[in-house]
Amino acid sequence: MKISQKLYVRVAISIALIAVLVSLATSTVSYFSGLDEKKATNYMLVRQLAQTLEKTAAISAYLSDRELGQEIVNGLLSNDLVKGVSLTGEANMVIAQGDINNQAERISIKLMHPFIADSQVGSLNLYPDDQYIQQQAQQSTQKEVLLMLLHSIVIAFFVSLMVHRRLAQPIQSLTDSFASIDPSAPQTMRMLTLKQGARDEIGKLAIGINSLMHELHLTISNERELREKTQALEAKFRLIFEQASAGICLLNEDNKITTFNPAFAGYFTITGKDDMATLDFPLLLNNVEKLEELLSEIRKEDGLTQITLDIECTVGATTKWMHCLFAKLTDQRNNQRDEQGCLIEVILHDVTERAEREFQTRFEADHDPLTHLLNRRAGEKKLHKALFDSMKSKHHLVLMMIDLDKFKPVNDTFGHEAGDKVLIEIARRIKSRFCLSTDICIRWGGDEFVVARQIDHFDQNLSAIQAEGMLQDILVPIKISEYEQCEIGASIGIVIGPNDGKVLHELMVNADNTMYQVKEKGRGHVAFFNKKKTISAT
Ligand code: GH3
Ligand code: MG
Repeated sequence: MKISQKLYVRVAISIALIAVLVSLATSTVSYFSGLDEKKATNYMLVRQLAQTLEKTAAISAYLSDRELGQEIVNGLLSNDLVKGVSLTGEANMVIAQGDINNQAERISIKLMHPFIADSQVGSLNLYPDDQYIQQQAQQSTQKEVLLMLLHSIVIAFFVSLMVHRRLAQPIQSLTDSFASIDPSAPQTMRMLTLKQGARDEIGKLAIGINSLMHELHLTISNERELREKTQALEAKFRLIFEQASAGICLLNEDNKITTFNPAFAGYFTITGKDDMATLDFPLLLNNVEKLEELLSEIRKEDGLTQITLDIECTVGATTKWMHCLFAKLTDQRNNQRDEQGCLIEVILHDVTERAEREFQTRFEADHDPLTHLLNRRAGEKKLHKALFDSMKSKHHLVLMMIDLDKFKPVNDTFGHEAGDKVLIEIARRIKSRFCLSTDICIRWGGDEFVVARQIDHFDQNLSAIQAEGMLQDILVPIKISEYEQCEIGASIGIVIGPNDGKVLHELMVNADNTMYQVKEKGRGHVAFFNKKKTISAT
């Protein structure tokens, strides 16, 4: 810091300047007023001097004693204040000496008769030395002004010294302590101390600053500790998020993916961050509409906050199954809620293998291993439901019991394996004719098959045509080997639920009987159950 910038120097300069100005002003006033005063004093001295010699001068004037008169004049002239003296007396005595100018100011004293009152015998005129008096007055006034100036300068010096010690130094010490504080390093925030332990305003300022710094130190330390803990926690969660084997993503209110972890990207082969903003989550999984419906259900105020389900998705050429957990983020966790609306967290696991195993197990449990048609147990369940639904909706269930004619000889002639081949092919043909999603195709057992179809209105002709068509399909020769083929027929008994049976058992018994009656009547054709006649052949 430049010396001229130091507080005490500036204070000293200011005080000195003010002192000089005030001194000059006062000196000017006192010079002019002092000058007149001094002049008047000197004039008074001259008058007093004249008065002391008045009596003697009166005697010399009365006696016309020139010698005495000369002595008096000489004595008066020896005074520096007097530049000229004139003495007049009886008998025209005139003694004049020095610079006598009748025009100039003079002090005139009447010389009275020593014995006769009120009788003037002469006069004594003194001419004061104005120039000398003026000079004297000037010198004395100048001395006073100089003294005043000196006085002011000394006061300015001592005031600045005091300012330096009492103000500038403590402030400098505070400033130095402040300068050594680094807000990013709380350990540097030590307490400020004043050398004098002052209790003045600066001392109070230091105490105030100290308590402020104490609070600041505590706050910064707490915040730092908190930040470190938060960072450690965040790093831990980030690690969990990034290393998680489950795919995790966040969906905004438009079902767009805002954040996802590497496992999620791996499941759907997402690359690069650019794709992220445009990713529409439901499009990643099959059955988009159902998923969008489900997500809007979760977003509802009073809706479910969490849903888990397995969803199928197609990634490239492969089909995967994802076990998904959808959870609405609650207020505490959803700190971006205001900006992004309701966020949904999705956690996915690839369960394709498990799902495939389950499908396989369920398929095996419900299907015949040879023909892959429904087995009897699963078939019966479906038939129960279909019959119930038909009755409920006042529709009909057409059920056909199919038994191959003379199948045993196929086994006997071509072998069991060839027999299997025939059964597989017959099942395929049946399935291709009864291919609606609501149609039911069952391998009832051995060479027996059951098919069922729900229809709005029963039309016997139409059903007969269908059954006949199927019979013709079955009759098409089946290739067993390169050189061999076989031709097989079937007997078909048809029942209509609920007309021919309100419960499945009754319906099946009637279908079985009808089919056996076809067998008895020579095989290879179709018959409808008829309560009265028991059978109606086509
Ligand atoms: P029908 O005309 O009276 O029906 O006489 P069928 O020769 O067809 O004999 P039936 O229906 O009474 O018996 C079915 C036969 O089918 C019995 C059995 O040898 C044969 N069979 C049952 N299950 C299988 C199978 O899984 N594979 C093979 N290859 N044959 C089977
Ligand atoms: Mg048979």
